[in-house]
Amino acid sequence: MPRPSKAPKEVTPFDRIAKWLDGSRTRMMDLMAELTKRNAVGPANGGPGEAEKADFLESYLAAEGFPAATRLTAMCDGVARPNLLVRLPGRDRSRCLWVMTHLDVVPPGNLSEWKSDPFALRVEGEKLVGRGVEDNHQGLVGSVFAARALLELGIEPATDVGLLFVADEETGSEYGIRWLLAQHPTLFSAGDAFLVPDAGNEDGSLVEVAEKAILWLKFRTVGRQVHASTPQLGVNAFVAASHLVVRLRDLYQRFEQRNPIFDPPMSTFEPTRKERNVENINTVPGEDLFFMDCRILPEVSVEEVLQAIRTLCDEVARSQRVVVHFDTVQREDAAPPTPADAPLVQQVIHAVQKVYRVHARPRGIGGGTVASALRHHGFPAVVWSRMDETGHQPNEYIWLSNLVDDAKVFALVMMGADASK
Ligand SMILES: [Zn+2]
Repeated sequence: MPRPSKAPKEVTPFDRIAKWLDGSRTRMMDLMAELTKRNAVGPANGGPGEAEKADFLESYLAAEGFPAATRLTAMCDGVARPNLLVRLPGRDRSRCLWVMTHLDVVPPGNLSEWKSDPFALRVEGEKLVGRGVEDNHQGLVGSVFAARALLELGIEPATDVGLLFVADEETGSEYGIRWLLAQHPTLFSAGDAFLVPDAGNEDGSLVEVAEKAILWLKFRTVGRQVHASTPQLGVNAFVAASHLVVRLRDLYQRFEQRNPIFDPPMSTFEPTRKERNVENINTVPGEDLFFMDCRILPEVSVEEVLQAIRTLCDEVARSQRVVVHFDTVQREDAAPPTPADAPLVQQVIHAVQKVYRVHARPRGIGGGTVASALRHHGFPAVVWSRMDETGHQPNEYIWLSNLVDDAKVFALVMMGADASK
């Protein structure tokens, strides 16, 4: 049946942005190539640091008409670790939406596993290959072009928009966002929010808003080493450690809380690395060493977990006649999750629906992203991208369509709550 003729569809600001970004693919790829060829491996990983890449980006942004960048440099054993910030004015100047990406990349690893030079962008049809293309150039280039679309089309963002390019994400952020939060706290104000396009999944449905606490422990059981033919004269530390490994499974019952935003939805307590003990088969080991990786839900007290572990160790020490030591190797308490109903979370979900036609949901992950530093400071922080998760691998790649369409998502979020109109 013929449809009644309608007035031509109104061209929305978002339509204009989408068209502008679709027309900017070549320029986005050019920026991707420039970033990829500047090795920004951090000094802790044997690289030169981010200075050359930051120099390039700073002049690039100036040449493209962005407001002047603020450069804040932390020094790490004589190596400059530059952080760049650019702020565009919005309707509400009291708050800022920061899109935070990092300048550093991880080393390429074994070069023989790469099909081409990791520091030269290779284009294979719709696929872009090179070290850093996903981690974190996709987010970086996307944020630059989203902001540039708003600038060129004269569309005012809802709040100020900040582009934040940080150093040192790959080796702990001590000279990056953690340093900025500690040394330059006035850069950020209470109403600010952070979008961190540095992880995601293949269809873009994962909106990361929470992390578990990370607790790494080292256990050492000490008995008495003897010849294996006379075990009655010694105390087998390996047997004691094995009892302890089994007893530590009790933690799953003891801390059985569930939180459905996480997958798996519970805290996990997994014995992992096991050190070798004696060299030979005919010796009863007098000492044994193993490690455990715990991922603890934000609502569970890490102190209570440690107390429960202490009790289990004491029980095994008594029953097996050994001494049990345990030490914390790493502890990162869970930050308060960003609430699922926070405006930024809802805006990202809405934008992903509009651009990708994908129903995204707020979820939690096992821990270890830089967003927890922001959440510990009370800022809403959302980690989102659409990517295959090839970062840190040889032949790291992204899809050009995700590069362009992620930029549309960022632009929608920058436009604010009325983006749907
Ligand atoms: Zn990254």
